[in-house]
Amino acid sequence: PVRIGVLALQGDVREHAAILTSLGAEAVPVRRPEQLDGLDGLVIPGGESSVIDKLSRIFGVREPLRALIADGLPVYGTCAGLILLADEIEGAIDGQLTFGGLDVTVARNAFGGQVESFETELTVAGIDEPVDATFIRAPLITRVGPRATAIAALPDGGVVAVQQGNLLGTSFHPEMNGETRLHALFLELVAARRSAVAA
Ligand code: GLN
Repeated sequence: PVRIGVLALQGDVREHAAILTSLGAEAVPVRRPEQLDGLDGLVIPGGESSVIDKLSRIFGVREPLRALIADGLPVYGTCAGLILLADEIEGAIDGQLTFGGLDVTVARNAFGGQVESFETELTVAGIDEPVDATFIRAPLITRVGPRATAIAALPDGGVVAVQQGNLLGTSFHPEMNGETRLHALFLELVAARRSAVAA
């Protein structure tokens, strides 16, 4: 099976691991730099992006992960994970950094107060039927640069999912309600890169 890391510094690691396993992948929690070795892809879960950023620096994961992203490792970020993949944040607190890679700007907590959350059905490019999407203190993608492509938007036009090469990011959490099709889309990117690297 493909070996997919789930960045396990903070956030909803278990839900992602369960979906990846159900899709036939091997899911490995990643906390230390050496656990990044030999991965076919990585998921960055939702949680609190500033905390994940801080812990990634303390644990020495930040720099090796940035190198892997630059090298084309497939990475899927949900919510806080999307924030960490964005090249630019609006409303960053306390010198918060991102790993970067996605040519987008995200606004943190863009949907109102601390407890603001909602669920909706979304059309996602490349997925036939609408996706069940849970938003929890979610970021909004406020700028999509020329290298990235919007693949889902809310009815008001707000972009909530993007793809750029091997990077996938969603403002929402498909893993919260057992929605597996975003992870399946991600595993297609992983499979394509694996055969490209093997060729
Ligand atoms: N608001 C959080 C942040 O800025 C993200 C919330 C989430 O991942 N559900 O990191």
